[in-house]
Amino acid sequence: MRNWKLKNPYWGCVNSPEFQKLFLDQSRKLIDLEAYGLFVDDARFNDQATEWGGCFCDHCVSGFTTYLQDNGADTLSSTFNYRDYLRSAGIDSLPAKNRQVPLWTLYRAFQTKSVIRFLTSWRKSVENYARRPVTFLTNNYGGQWTGIYQIFDIGVAELPENRLNRDYILARTSEAGRLNKKQYFTLSSDDESKQLKALFLTYSANSALIIPWDVHVPGKSQKSATRFLGKNQTFQPVYKLLREDESKFSQAVIKSNQTRRATPLQIVSKSKADSLHIQSYDLERYKIIMIEGNNRLKSHIITIQAGKTIKLEDIKILFPNPNIVQVRKEEHNYKVEFSNELIIFSLKK
Ligand SMILES: [Zn+2]
Repeated sequence: MRNWKLKNPYWGCVNSPEFQKLFLDQSRKLIDLEAYGLFVDDARFNDQATEWGGCFCDHCVSGFTTYLQDNGADTLSSTFNYRDYLRSAGIDSLPAKNRQVPLWTLYRAFQTKSVIRFLTSWRKSVENYARRPVTFLTNNYGGQWTGIYQIFDIGVAELPENRLNRDYILARTSEAGRLNKKQYFTLSSDDESKQLKALFLTYSANSALIIPWDVHVPGKSQKSATRFLGKNQTFQPVYKLLREDESKFSQAVIKSNQTRRATPLQIVSKSKADSLHIQSYDLERYKIIMIEGNNRLKSHIITIQAGKTIKLEDIKILFPNPNIVQVRKEEHNYKVEFSNELIIFSLKK
């Protein structure tokens, strides 16, 4: 396997007894430290390794021979060595571009099965050792639940910005629910309003967003940082509200409306040219309202027809900075004027 050390120096072969022992020993240490759960980053191990070459250690090579014998190749000699076989076929580095690699599909299937067997047995050993419930988490790319990911209870999917929409999040969370799993998300973006939108959409779907702290942002130029470190003052107010009402998450209702069709809160925009996407999130003591504006318009005015019972101080702007949002009372209504693409505020019930 060429250059694997450079690709991922922390990689280990799941067919190696030394690695199996190391992985379990470290997991036990974490259990001793009272970890409530264990997160495995890049849980595909040998399965993923086939994308950049694959593992050809003695354990994998002999394991593959057994796998072939168990899957129809009854007459195959136990001395069959896939590594030597490929070399004799003139393949001494993988992936071999533009040419077929004999038995490759079977080799990949063997490695996938190896990972499933390893993780299943590891999970069982950890549970036996802990003698208490342990939550097993992994990052599952795209929110997909392959055989490997299904060994875990919770998947954390990295969302690219172009997948940040309600339908996608609902589809992934409902698929997880169908499998009796939980789907959480992290957003690959350094845009604060997109992070807040993701937070809102995930919580509304009874899921969660990993706090945007040290988020990997791919696709940036080599010179600029590839990490996003969210500012406490931006995210803390919204997280605080959501946490206060934690017991109510399961009853969270999301309501989506185009403007001029009144929401239960009677939030309306009078401007005909304006197009707002309004979503409200019901908590026990608050409603949190997220409004996405049409970015072609410079400013938006909405009216909150909340009746006499709502006081000015009951409306709290959570994003953007309250200094750039105007809230004023007009008879029984409140006018909110903002020029951002996204505004989030809470309304005390
Ligand atoms: Zn190996």
